Amino acid sequence: MNKIDLHIHSKASDGIKNHREIYDLFKEKGYSAISIADHNEISESLKLGEWANNKNEDNGLISLPGIEVLFPDKWHLSEILVYFRNPQNLEEFYKKNIEKKKSKLISYINSRLQEIVNTAKEHKGIICLPHPYSVKGILRKHKKEEIIHEINGIEIVNGCIRKTENKEASELYSNMTENERKKYFFLGSSDYHALDSFNYAHTEIFSEKPLSYDSLLDNLERKDTSIQFIPKGGSMPLKKLFLHHLTASINKFG
Ligand SMILES: [Zn+2]
Repeated sequence: MNKIDLHIHSKASDGIKNHREIYDLFKEKGYSAISIADHNEISESLKLGEWANNKNEDNGLISLPGIEVLFPDKWHLSEILVYFRNPQNLEEFYKKNIEKKKSKLISYINSRLQEIVNTAKEHKGIICLPHPYSVKGILRKHKKEEIIHEINGIEIVNGCIRKTENKEASELYSNMTENERKKYFFLGSSDYHALDSFNYAHTEIFSEKPLSYDSLLDNLERKDTSIQFIPKGGSMPLKKLFLHHLTASINKFG
């Protein structure tokens, strides 16, 4: 059994740790793969990849290039996770579609959902809906049919949202047929920013072959479906959730 967490925030957005600290923390906790996916920022995600490569450890952490795109969507902001097979694709996607469109005040970009999905695909991005039913979730604002055929995965459990929002996501999963489920990967993620929030959710994966960078990516792209992704955990307690968001926003704006 391997544990992975593909939704982690660093100092580059509103997290408290840098790539090295994140690498060490998740390595120590027994994870096999991670991704720093900051809000419209990529510097620490790129550094994490370089750091993991240069370490070249036998049991090193697989580190995927990723970003969480934050954009205005209907009556609120929405988020979408995008992973890339190589850092060059992430960098190109960022330079062309994120960097120039960033708002000065808050780090959202002025793009629409469909435009983001299209440009992510142009750069071979692997698209995942994070916390689909939270306030920043896509399925809170869009009909499932509008987006479901465009994506590769869905985050079913997120440690940083309310219980009821996770419940709606797990109902989405339960209502899918076996055939529908094969089309997607399913994640449990901590959405780690601060405190001990890395403890509350993760993805367990079962794989017959040893897990590698390429096998993980092939499974996320659904070119291979030999890995089973099992979202685990749940929301952190409300009081802690409040403190967690407070710590993250102080870090960002303070
Ligand atoms: Zn996040």
